[in-house]
Amino acid sequence: MSENKQELQVAALKNGTVIDHIPSEKLFTVVSLLGLEHMTTNITIGFNLDSKKLGKKGIIKIADKFFCDEEINRISVVAPHVKLNIIRDYEVVEKKEVRMPDELKGIVKCANPKCITNNEPMATLFHVIDKDSCVIKCHYCEKEQKREDITII
Ligand SMILES: [Zn+2]
Repeated sequence: MSENKQELQVAALKNGTVIDHIPSEKLFTVVSLLGLEHMTTNITIGFNLDSKKLGKKGIIKIADKFFCDEEINRISVVAPHVKLNIIRDYEVVEKKEVRMPDELKGIVKCANPKCITNNEPMATLFHVIDKDSCVIKCHYCEKEQKREDITII
């Protein structure tokens, strides 16, 4: 009984955000995209959990943290179908799905070695030109990249 209670404490979240349906191989990229390693709140990470849809999935529970859309939408670059549950007082008060933003600032590296962003200390900027298949275009050199070619900074 007491063991069950302990398990529940790890699993349940009073207030915070649950990020679900993360493909396992993208889990740690998502962790670093959100800067979770710099946070001081209670974070639970589940890795290689069974999922009917994905085979294996990852899940992240972050206590007392509510992300803004800009932070969350970064995840779409690596994991487009991630779902978020916003928890308040142990209840799911909002469900969100990650969406591709119109612009990606300082997240993705330009694949063109001659691009100014690879030669000057500056942030990269990409325009998302196809949200469904994730095609992005560098603001500076106009090189297009697909999801498979994207390198996260
Ligand atoms: Zn470029």
